[in-house]
Amino acid sequence: MSGGTAQDGTGAYDLAVVGAGIVGLGHAAAAHERGLRVVVVERATGVHGASVRNFGHACITAQTGQAREYAERSRELWLRYARRAGFWASESGTVVVARAADELAVLEQWRDTEPGITMLRPAEVTDRAPVTGAVGGGWLPRDLQVDPRQAAPALARHLADAGVGFRWRTSALGVDGGVLHTSRGPIRAAAVVVAVGHDVDQLYPDVAEAAEVVRCGLDMLLVAPAALPAPLRAPLMTGWSLLRYSGSNATPAAAALRERLRAERPDLYALDLNQMYTQRPDGTLVVGDTHYRGSAIAPFQAESSFDALAGVTRELFGVDRLPVLQRWQGVYASAPQEFLVAAPADGVRVVSVTTGIGMTTGLGLGDAIIADLFS
Ligand SMILES: Cc1cc2nc3c(=O)[nH]c(=O)nc-3n(C[C@H](O)[C@H](O)[C@H](O)COP(=O)(O)OP(=O)(O)OC[C@H]3O[C@@H](n4cnc5c(N)ncnc54)[C@H](O)[C@@H]3O)c2cc1C
Repeated sequence: MSGGTAQDGTGAYDLAVVGAGIVGLGHAAAAHERGLRVVVVERATGVHGASVRNFGHACITAQTGQAREYAERSRELWLRYARRAGFWASESGTVVVARAADELAVLEQWRDTEPGITMLRPAEVTDRAPVTGAVGGGWLPRDLQVDPRQAAPALARHLADAGVGFRWRTSALGVDGGVLHTSRGPIRAAAVVVAVGHDVDQLYPDVAEAAEVVRCGLDMLLVAPAALPAPLRAPLMTGWSLLRYSGSNATPAAAALRERLRAERPDLYALDLNQMYTQRPDGTLVVGDTHYRGSAIAPFQAESSFDALAGVTRELFGVDRLPVLQRWQGVYASAPQEFLVAAPADGVRVVSVTTGIGMTTGLGLGDAIIADLFS
């Protein structure tokens, strides 16, 4: 990277980060760790995007390739920042329930290529998650869980206390020759990282179009603690989840599972369901999720989608009632590649996680980009 640092007087900051989601915070934390002067510019009043609307599931074992490298590094960083910032991060692992022979077949083939997976007997599944109909399962011990509503905001507070500047309610307007223009005036910085998630098309439309970035909207539910017959001891994934992650979806058996689920439940297949669950420390259950993609996401969520989520949840846990506390919509960036990293100008990086794995990979990604930018 060319351009000066705060220390040599040619920049007020070494790094300006646009976006206070987990990806932006990952960059800010990595730069702060290296002794750099950092400012974060965020148009909202706090962390409010995808980074607080998710499951809080760091699904490390299910990643492959570069995503796995970022995920493994993120694992270390989540545990480090949780200790320092005092937020909850659990080395929970993940339980995957198989309720049909084809789901078990995917798990067994996945286990053959991924040493991090242990097969579970039905009783070992129900010991971890009070589900009905388990014929077996998989155990992913390296996975982590954080509380999505607490973790990123706590990291932001910790960074602010440690000296990182935060400009809330401030919109970035563009970057030009070492200056980040914002709605509250210019900020001089030797380097700028733009980590605005799905809104990358608003600042860098050419970059977004070249990477084929669109928006993915998701419907989610929060359910009262009393809903389950027993607590979930770990994040819970199902047969639907096996079709989503690169590790399990790459198995030969995944095609047959996909066909069976599509034929049996075309309604759920059309919703692009990933039936999965995490239980937050207060006992509330995060239930998700459906997916719909486009250059714009309508804010009007269909009740049929929530009915479907509630229906599969009642059936899985064998409960008649599901006391729903909240419903919400999440949006993240989606593209054919898992990550967007572009350098539209010297010292400027546009960075986005372009599939739903930013909580798993974002901290490691930020660390890698900062190492490269300031090498
Ligand atoms: C429902 C749901 C469930 C998910 N579950 C998981 C999961 O279990 N595990 C997992 O790994 N991932 C999960 N994800 C994905 C993960 O949440 C995202 O990949 C990640 O949060 C993206 O982080 P981000 O920082 O890029 O985006 P965001 O958190 O959306 O942050 C981007 C920020 O940029 C700000 N911004 C935008 N434009 C500007 C501008 N011009 N000026 C200033 N600020 C700007 C926005 O206000 C926003 O705060 C899920 C996502 C959703 C929506």
